Amino acid sequence: MAIDGSKIVHAVMEGSRIRESKGIIPLFGVYLSIASVQYYNTLSFEFENKLRGERAAEAEALLVKAAQECGYATFQGIRNSWEWGEIVKPMIETKEDQIEGFTAVSVAFGWGDLVVKELIPHEKLVIRVTDSYEARGHLEHYGMTESGKCYMLRGVAGAFMDLLYGDDYPDGCFDYSAQEPFCRAKGDPYCEFVARKSSD
Ligand SMILES: [Zn+2]
Repeated sequence: MAIDGSKIVHAVMEGSRIRESKGIIPLFGVYLSIASVQYYNTLSFEFENKLRGERAAEAEALLVKAAQECGYATFQGIRNSWEWGEIVKPMIETKEDQIEGFTAVSVAFGWGDLVVKELIPHEKLVIRVTDSYEARGHLEHYGMTESGKCYMLRGVAGAFMDLLYGDDYPDGCFDYSAQEPFCRAKGDPYCEFVARKSSD
């Protein structure tokens, strides 16, 4: 892989100094905002708590779906941006290198220390994260649990595969879907996201 992640992280850090009056950061072709981790986690996990019981699986599916749609549109904007063309594109040698570019941008956004552990074109993507803010937040405020809690990163992992191997934008969202077999919120040493082709 020819991608220099630190170069991308620095570009995002540098660019994110520019904010308009409402705090919106126009960068990499998309509009970003700074949100408190605790605020985002509270929204997610309290939403899940409200639907506890019969509808718990529904809450999880909705949160992953929201993240995947957001990741799909956001990274489509990012990879078509002027900044991507200037900073990332010159480092891309293969289609698969895009994933390294996406993860470097995600690291810069503060989503965690994403590392691509495995990528089988068209088939499988494995991303490992040791400091997921969702897992940390769940452990701090709700304690240990029995299932993966990193819905945002799970959706994003699926979106990365959608953008590389799904139908052309905007028809490829949910062509892939991710699971989180390992999560720090259930006692594992790290969180791991495995995206594969959706079954239906
Ligand atoms: Zn996790």
